[in-house]
Amino acid sequence: MTQYRYPETSVFYRDLTREFPLAVRGEGCWIIDAAGKRYLDGSGGAFVATVGHGVAEIAEAVAEQARTLPYVNGTHFTSEPVERLAATLVDRAPGDLSLAYFLTSGSDAVEAALKLARQYWVEVGEPRKHKVLSLTPGYHGNTMLALAASGRPRYKAYFRDWLTPVPRVAAPYPYRCACRGAAPLCPACTGDALEQVLLEEDPETVAAFIAEPVGGSSTGASVPPPEYWPRIRKLCDQYGVLWIADEILAGAGRTGVWSPLERYGVSPDLMVMGKGITGGYAPLGVVLAPRRLVDRIAQGSGSLMHAQTYVHHPLSCAAGLATLRYLDQHDLVTRCQAMGELLHAGLAGVKEIPIVGDIRGIGLLAGIELVADRATRAPFARRERVAERCIALAMEAGLVLWPSTGHADGMAGDLLMIAPPFTISPEEITQLVDRLHGVLTRMHSELTVTT
Ligand code: PLP
Repeated sequence: MTQYRYPETSVFYRDLTREFPLAVRGEGCWIIDAAGKRYLDGSGGAFVATVGHGVAEIAEAVAEQARTLPYVNGTHFTSEPVERLAATLVDRAPGDLSLAYFLTSGSDAVEAALKLARQYWVEVGEPRKHKVLSLTPGYHGNTMLALAASGRPRYKAYFRDWLTPVPRVAAPYPYRCACRGAAPLCPACTGDALEQVLLEEDPETVAAFIAEPVGGSSTGASVPPPEYWPRIRKLCDQYGVLWIADEILAGAGRTGVWSPLERYGVSPDLMVMGKGITGGYAPLGVVLAPRRLVDRIAQGSGSLMHAQTYVHHPLSCAAGLATLRYLDQHDLVTRCQAMGELLHAGLAGVKEIPIVGDIRGIGLLAGIELVADRATRAPFARRERVAERCIALAMEAGLVLWPSTGHADGMAGDLLMIAPPFTISPEEITQLVDRLHGVLTRMHSELTVTT
């Protein structure tokens, strides 16, 4: 069989309404299915594939680790790859982030970082500090605390009763916020919106503020203005709040620099990473923390109250180490910056299609916002499922894209995200843009016919 669908299978798929091609091989920026069809991986899966598919030396490093020491529990032992990856990551982290706590997904890393922030305040004798603030739109994962911190009403709808309240701060989202990204900036873009929520909530009760330095799928690669993160740093210092940077999607070189915060010249109190650090060769998430926080836990209870079986997994860390080595050897973060410029220049050509409202992003991260009316920026009705239909058309055309929905008003809003491997060639960028142009043209004519 080359195509699978529910219910003729034993797999509980991510989507129970559609058919899935059976992927059998990956080569560079391409995924090949069992029927021999080739798909250009325009989104690196879910923003994961950085070094491309099928890199022999990374596969070999993972296999070698599996042969020598696949697993030890982090309560009994440490291991070479864990020690070495921690040293490598803290070496390139901004500010004083000097310790790494490894988990197996981005959501797990967010949970651990939020618990660490809360535990810290209890250990230092400030137990009133328990609230988490975060941005809307924003996304931090699907486990309960990470979901609570996420500004995605649609994902939360079934679970409201279980979710801890997280006060919302308007995200800097130039296409949709009040100032439309131009001076004078609105409170969402200056950071005043955070100060206002802090004061409403009483800063004495706030433990942490978590946010994505460059918007991921929630604001579709929106880049906050240069003054935004320095202002957030100041506010968090002024009110005694720990700032957690969620670089799970936009970190590890995706924006053309290792950390998107490098461009803002400030550093957070905690950072979470995931996705690109292993390029998909194994699951991995990480919390980066400074000694000034962790020392207080060492002197207090002695451990972070967030243990999981696969914390500090040698195999995942070996994959991370080999991926970072490959990124460095081939100077792929620099290449990401150069290929990003080519990508954005190419994408300017799809702006002519009337359903394209905005194209934005940085490095090899781009968001295309689709709208029913360019003048008013009105989104399509959700029932049209425009983003999902574009993804289906793209798959048909041999192009993998990432959809995102709901950012315009919590329910409506259609985004297509692009995030290919950093190894993409100029010719492949042309192919990506051509296929995308075809998909959007078809979508536009389908919508014009039905309206
Ligand atoms: N944070 C951000 C910014 C993300 O984009 C994601 C996933 O897309 C997560 C957290 C959660 O990561 P994971 O899906 O690995 O749990």
